[in-house]
Amino acid sequence: MPERAYFDWNATSPLRQVAREAMVAALGQTGNASSVHGEGRTARRLIEDARAQVAHLVGADAKDVTFASGATEANMLALHPAMGDRLFVSAVEHPSVRSGGRFPAEKIEELPVDGAGSVDLHALSNAVARAERPFVSIMLANNETGVIEPIVQIAQIVHTANGVLHVDAVQGPGRIDCDLKTLGADLLSISAHKLGGPQGVGALIRRGYIQIEPLIRGGGQERGLRAGTENVAGIAGFGAACAALAANWRHEAIRMAALRDRIETGIKALVPRAVIFGQNAPRLPNTTLFSIPGIKAETAIIAFDLNGIALSSGSACSSGKVQTSHVLAAMGVEPELARGALRISLGCSTTDAEVDNLLNALTKVSSSLLKGHENSRVNSGLAA
Ligand code: PMP
Repeated sequence: MPERAYFDWNATSPLRQVAREAMVAALGQTGNASSVHGEGRTARRLIEDARAQVAHLVGADAKDVTFASGATEANMLALHPAMGDRLFVSAVEHPSVRSGGRFPAEKIEELPVDGAGSVDLHALSNAVARAERPFVSIMLANNETGVIEPIVQIAQIVHTANGVLHVDAVQGPGRIDCDLKTLGADLLSISAHKLGGPQGVGALIRRGYIQIEPLIRGGGQERGLRAGTENVAGIAGFGAACAALAANWRHEAIRMAALRDRIETGIKALVPRAVIFGQNAPRLPNTTLFSIPGIKAETAIIAFDLNGIALSSGSACSSGKVQTSHVLAAMGVEPELARGALRISLGCSTTDAEVDNLLNALTKVSSSLLKGHENSRVNSGLAA
């Protein structure tokens, strides 16, 4: 069996050791954080410590952090008609934002992006001018391409129009600065499992002046915004991962960028006509989305997997099937090329040796799949 190397950190990241330890310790306590006895107060302390750690990562006040079951739920919590009379989202958002959350369909408008996947700022300015209280939700960085949206400029446009800005920052932590105030965002969603914490926990972080509409009513947990007994171990792991990341991310991001550049140089050297999407736009240091004309993503993913390499096609979807990407469609990429899109995403523990393995596998996979492609073209008379 070949040694495995994991290149799908944008789908989910391995659990950091500190997060695992915090979770195991939290699982050893029995209290309900709403109980007043000592056990309850211990659980409460774990949650409030984690809240401060999450807040610190994004430069927010701890009281403005609301824990939820992940970023999908955090986005749902944010996207409520009380936030504005119209919702504007970009065409490349994650489905949890594109679907508009709690807004009715007739109040949701999609904004176009350019060929690199950056939001069209003219279209945004015109759109927000048409609403009285625009609510805008744009991602910090795209999960498929890694392209970073110009959030500082977007925030200026939105605020000039008297609007509110929500930023889905799921792919940001550990890779780029996610400071709420520097970005100018009013609301920010993050997810633990993308930053070395566990799956099934995330947070919506707001500026103090923003009011959020409750999502789940019940026992009044999370300041009445999201009822239900808290996932104490998950929250503790989330907090520990945020603390570790806050201390190290700049150094880790520089290392990842160097590895990513090595991978892209390797792809281009091997197949010069390979296309790297969004290559000239500001991008996350850990993500490469590329296509090799003639190679289908589904076949390539299986071939890489057999060679010990875990990578994906753009986004992981619940069915496990490869679907054509709405992100690449919005960028105007031809469907045939989009069907070949492969995403390589790295993380803090990716090594040089793993990148060597990836490039070796790429050499094998591309030559065998391209040979198969040429043969089928010859057989169907297309090769002339
Ligand atoms: N937004 C983006 C940009 C994402 O990449 C993801 C995860 N794929 C989500 C939201 C949803 O996060 P979660 O898995 O925590 O619900």
